[in-house]
Amino acid sequence: MSFKELKLKRDIQSAVGKAGYSEPTPIQEKAIPEIIAGRDLIACAQTGTGKTAAFALPILNRLEEIRPKKIRALVLTPTRELAIQIFDSFRKYGRYLKLRTVCVYGGAKPGAQIAALERGCDILVATPGRLQDFMNSGYIRISEVEIFVLDEADRMLDMGFIGDVRKIASHLPGERQTVMFSATMPPKIEELAGELLTDPAIVKVAQTTDPADTVNQSLVFTEKVDKKHLLGDLLKKEEVKKSIVFTRTKHGADRLVRDLGKEGVAAIAIHGDKTQGQRQNALERFRSGGVKVLVATDVASRGIDIPKITHVFNYDLPMESESYIHRIGRAGRAGESGEAVTLCCEEELELLRDIEKMMKKEIPEIETSYSVPLERKAARAARRKSGADRRHSAGRGYGSSGAAGGRNSRPGISGRRRSGRDGSPDRRPGSGTSRYGKSQYQSHSGTVSV
Ligand code: ADP
Ligand code: MG
Repeated sequence: MSFKELKLKRDIQSAVGKAGYSEPTPIQEKAIPEIIAGRDLIACAQTGTGKTAAFALPILNRLEEIRPKKIRALVLTPTRELAIQIFDSFRKYGRYLKLRTVCVYGGAKPGAQIAALERGCDILVATPGRLQDFMNSGYIRISEVEIFVLDEADRMLDMGFIGDVRKIASHLPGERQTVMFSATMPPKIEELAGELLTDPAIVKVAQTTDPADTVNQSLVFTEKVDKKHLLGDLLKKEEVKKSIVFTRTKHGADRLVRDLGKEGVAAIAIHGDKTQGQRQNALERFRSGGVKVLVATDVASRGIDIPKITHVFNYDLPMESESYIHRIGRAGRAGESGEAVTLCCEEELELLRDIEKMMKKEIPEIETSYSVPLERKAARAARRKSGADRRHSAGRGYGSSGAAGGRNSRPGISGRRRSGRDGSPDRRPGSGTSRYGKSQYQSHSGTVSV
């Protein structure tokens, strides 16, 4: 299908062409006709599938360029970065139209935003906090909004904005079009959709269990203590032009940035504890190529558009299998191919097993100077075991002396390893009990029960 077939105005088609898009993405193909038809809509697709244009194009298409002095479209999004991205997209796709888009978000002085509003606003892109401030102080009225977009709804939920969303929606006219975009559909979001939307069309693309097929996945089994050295080596490879490294915790992200520094690799972290300004600054440095490595947590990274990622590294395995798909979907966006490399240590075998079960395939293993050869065997053994006889594996598998001996006697790995783990398998957390039968393992931030 082409953008022409979507019956968009010629000016919009030209702008889309200028943006370099040759055809609509699947979510755009499905969502745009519904929005143009005026229906409420729930659209579900993973990060990087082009959801912004899926709502921005039909909104631009629908609004007449007549300049009534009122806000006719409202896009609500959880973070400042996302708001700015969406604003930029509206500007890009609407470059040949006389429609004004204004963006308001927290963490910046209100003056310039107020001045922009006063110059006229057809389309408002906003984060919940600043929007409410401006509503309360009378700078913004949303009582004549015709189309309301709730972007990244699942992330709104994660960030605790659901109450604000409800409050804001209560000021919208009852007669309106509402569209909701989300990467996932947790029950709380379905509930919210039930309240805010009327007889919505529902469009979904690519099951979240299908990783983008342009991403080449691989896996390294390694000791936890070696991960930083291994990652340092991997990041120094020439083909690694721009990469995101995922950690499970904010703490882990900051620590890794320091550790990579010691390995001679410059990296910056983004996560929820940084101020909006720091995050924006980090993203700018990363986008412009000043720094090649971004270390992020799952929540902080969601929805952020960073084109041309060559590599995704999973420094920690995610707690939720679905996050794996979201993470690796960052590599090879919009038709380009990318690499996703997962660093898995003993304590994470169970998480790995969940991910592989979800994808119904094994991630191919690659050998590195820090590889630990016997891990896969243990993982396979665990996979073969059914829940009923898991308990019998206690004391066997990876933690047994046979396995440790075999690992240490393997040639070719001891030279590079700095961890000095040889001959001390008992120091491993959880050794002596089965790490599969007993659902407890050591995470970076302590023991976690799952
Ligand atoms: P999402 O909101 O689903 O995470 P975005 O809307 O941020 O995705 O888009 C991701 C990237 O894909 C952006 O860089 C955008 O410019 C690009 N993109 C969007 N639509 C198309 C298209 N039809 N063809 C090529 N690239 C596109
Ligand atoms: Mg988005």
